Amino acid sequence: MSNIAERWQNIREKVDTTAKQAGRLPNEVTVLAVSKTFPADDVRAAWAAGAREFGENYVQEGVEKIAELDDLPAIWHFIGPLQSNKTRPVAEHFHWVHTVDREKIAQRLNDQRPSHLPPLQVCLQVNISADPAKSGVSIDELAPLAQQVAQLPNLTLRGLMTVPALDLDDTALSAQFAQMQQAFKALQSLHPDMDTLSMGMSDDMALAIQHGSTCVRIGRGIFGHRERKGNLA
Ligand SMILES: *Cc1c(COP(=O)(O)O)cnc(C)c1O
Repeated sequence: MSNIAERWQNIREKVDTTAKQAGRLPNEVTVLAVSKTFPADDVRAAWAAGAREFGENYVQEGVEKIAELDDLPAIWHFIGPLQSNKTRPVAEHFHWVHTVDREKIAQRLNDQRPSHLPPLQVCLQVNISADPAKSGVSIDELAPLAQQVAQLPNLTLRGLMTVPALDLDDTALSAQFAQMQQAFKALQSLHPDMDTLSMGMSDDMALAIQHGSTCVRIGRGIFGHRERKGNLA
């Protein structure tokens, strides 16, 4: 068995165990395999091991990999910072975007989504740590942005995403994940079809699952050491 297959199984088992311990069903939590900086062959190895959904951070790299792997019916999530001059390739090639944080980006994605494709699946990024170096809206700004996105016909509002600050201890992290869970539930009362809370990475996935995460984003835990440092914005 390849290292990637072994690590995938190990992560999937950890997620299943953590979900059960938290009184949840394992199939409520998707493991998004974050393949940024890793070659297409590594994605194939993860696919062979059972991974079905992949996350990419960089537009150009992601689009190239999707083209190289177009024989696989994989689901591709864009999870990186998105500038308005880069929305078109994302709208044309990805299934999901986790990092919508302003109306202008949402509008462009909507306008550029090809009509032969289903709507783009969208999460709103929340800057839960109020970190000036990170993208995302505050919890106060969520409801109006959600309202705008929900009105765009070529986008489907699926939920929320967050990347907390790096230097938090478990107590602070727990508090922020709890705030996310609360904000998610509050927004669900206005948008009942929302079903996705994208939070948790290699080091904090257990805490995230305890706080209702439905999608953990794991890169190194599956693909191994990354040469180029990932952009965690
Ligand atoms: C890189 C990245 C991940 C995965 O991080 P790892 O440390 O490789 O597990 C998850 N989410 C986002 C937004 C990322 O940029």
